[in-house]
Amino acid sequence: MPDPTRPEGPKIITVANQKGGVGKTTTTINLGAALAETGARVLIVDLDPQGNASTGLGIEAEARTFTAYDLLLDEISLDDVIQPTGVDHLSIIPATVDLSSADIELISNEKRSFLLHDALRQPAMDAYEFEYILIDCPPSLNLLTINAMVAAHSILVPLQSEFFALEGLSQLMLTIREIRQTANPALRIEGVVLTMFDARNNLSTQVEQDARDNLGDLVFKTRIPRNVRVSEAPSYAMSVLSYDPLSKGAQAYRDLAQELMQNSARIAA
Ligand code: ADP
Ligand code: MG
Repeated sequence: MPDPTRPEGPKIITVANQKGGVGKTTTTINLGAALAETGARVLIVDLDPQGNASTGLGIEAEARTFTAYDLLLDEISLDDVIQPTGVDHLSIIPATVDLSSADIELISNEKRSFLLHDALRQPAMDAYEFEYILIDCPPSLNLLTINAMVAAHSILVPLQSEFFALEGLSQLMLTIREIRQTANPALRIEGVVLTMFDARNNLSTQVEQDARDNLGDLVFKTRIPRNVRVSEAPSYAMSVLSYDPLSKGAQAYRDLAQELMQNSARIAA
């Protein structure tokens, strides 16, 4: 039940695709930075034991005393686990390899699928006034990803513009449907975003055509181009919006943020 004495709270979006290397982390960081650039307060939750979102936003390993693991499995104050990044209005809950054991430890926990849901809805969250929470998922449909899907209002799916891109989607959609039938009936699909798009490559345009034919309005109009500035930015611990504000990649993520803000979370097929 919504509590009428509390503010509505942030919109929680999970960035998921069980395939690795499709642009989940890149999209989480840069969409987060683009939303923050509009003045919205944004929190990224790094839920991948690889911790790429944390590294990409400049959170050194030594600075990750408290992480998403503690958020899920320990009583921890939000102040200890939420860290600022180099980007105004953008905060992060970092991850370390500890999280890979969380996936196992969760199995014996009665509330295993709801831990992130509950952690992100604790009353102490209100003080941060986040408008968006973006959750970066590991490349699998494990309990961490399930937690992210149960916690979220919607799912954003990066789709790499390459061979067989659509094949993995049916498994993902099946999982989303199961979550909707059980733990989170209100779960929506925010949209599918084409990543690493190369307009000169026939394969990219073919994948786009297939995606639009099969998924229709679920596919964002904005495509994220393959852009070397996007891939360089994390090694400077920056979003591409900070690293090269006028690059095609930065502009595409700004467009995606605008489209998302106008998007009234579409319902999935
Ligand atoms: P995932 O989180 O799904 O595993 P990543 O976001 O880490 O995927 O992206 C995989 C690789 O592709 C990374 O090396 C990243 O820098 C690169 N990459 C992602 N998006 C782009 C892009 N638009 N242009 C160029 N390289 C990209
Ligand atoms: Mg990743």
